[in-house]
Amino acid sequence: MRVDLQKKIMRHCGSCNFCRDFCPMYQQLGSELDSPGGKLRALRAYAEKMRKPPQELLDRLYCADCRRCEAICPAGVPVTTIWHDAKASLLATGGEMSENLMKVLEWIDQEGTAFIGYEADDRTEWAEDLELPPESNTAIFSGCMGSYYYPDQPEIVVDMLDKLKISAGYVPSEQCCGLFNYWAGDDKGFEAVARKNYEMFKKAGVDHIVTGCGGCFGTLAEHYPHFIPEFDIKIHHTVEVLADSVRNGVLTFSGKEGTYTFHDSCHLGRALGIFEPPREIIRAVPGLELVEMANHHEDSACCGGFLTVLDPDLADMVGKSRVQEAVDIGVDGIITECVSCYKSLGYSARETNLEVIQLDELILDLAMSSVRE
Ligand code: SF4
Ligand code: SF4
Repeated sequence: MRVDLQKKIMRHCGSCNFCRDFCPMYQQLGSELDSPGGKLRALRAYAEKMRKPPQELLDRLYCADCRRCEAICPAGVPVTTIWHDAKASLLATGGEMSENLMKVLEWIDQEGTAFIGYEADDRTEWAEDLELPPESNTAIFSGCMGSYYYPDQPEIVVDMLDKLKISAGYVPSEQCCGLFNYWAGDDKGFEAVARKNYEMFKKAGVDHIVTGCGGCFGTLAEHYPHFIPEFDIKIHHTVEVLADSVRNGVLTFSGKEGTYTFHDSCHLGRALGIFEPPREIIRAVPGLELVEMANHHEDSACCGGFLTVLDPDLADMVGKSRVQEAVDIGVDGIITECVSCYKSLGYSARETNLEVIQLDELILDLAMSSVRE
């Protein structure tokens, strides 16, 4: 294990276990080795005494990546950075990632998408009938989820930006953002993907990127600059752009009756501090009442989406626990700004009467045609 990582663990974690009950892995599995403090202690023991990389420990480091432990930790332990560095370190010393995850990374390398079975050539289909400007310094990053699963989503972004007189193009050679490579601890693969995207955007003259995916946004804004020191592209999530437009009166809405709650994406909220812009947009919809779940903002609970690649049943258990919070407050539905959360929550809410709504879609449905010229 790398010495700097070893020191980071030794120095910071006081083993108070305060983080344990907030961790979705511990909540669902109940094992000490699935709790953040338990894993840190095991890593410390490995760093101090063990010679052979502990495969079981490596497997446990692949968690929901929700960062709740970090947010709650009184000692400010950078837990998920430690997970990432430890995964990279254990993989380099003989540890193995799961077969499923390996297949996903191979597919990213081969087809530029994390979704096995989908091909690079189909990534641009959503944009084919749209008249996007051939050159623009602002590009839409549709991400794997937007390109393949929810092609309406990037279309909605284009439509909204168009309504707001913001000219945005699309760069057809976009690749997966590489979030899975980063999460896997595959630094080499992540850097390769990040470089490919960066060079492609630079070649196209892009200096601003707008994306509707919380995961892509977090990866581009937070991790790319660490791997590409010269990274100089400004990354925006659609909610930032749209909240600005609500604030200055450019974007107004017709009404929607009902009581809804808002689910914060971990990558957009806890990781990058974007909590209020989506709420400002929702509060601007006449007739719609916004009610918070028991866990919200910095304390929001995870949708479990990341776990789908490793254990779909566990992902669903985490998702159902989040959905239950919405059921408990008696709302009509959940609104989220991230397409990945939208997919997970939509699935986990399948046995309820809750409506799960993607924020961009809500905006497009309700945006007044009288958007200011
Ligand atoms: S990570 Fe923080 S909250 Fe968790 S056991 Fe260590 S010091 Fe306590
Ligand atoms: S990031 Fe989330 S799932 Fe992972 S250890 Fe921390 S609280 Fe648990």
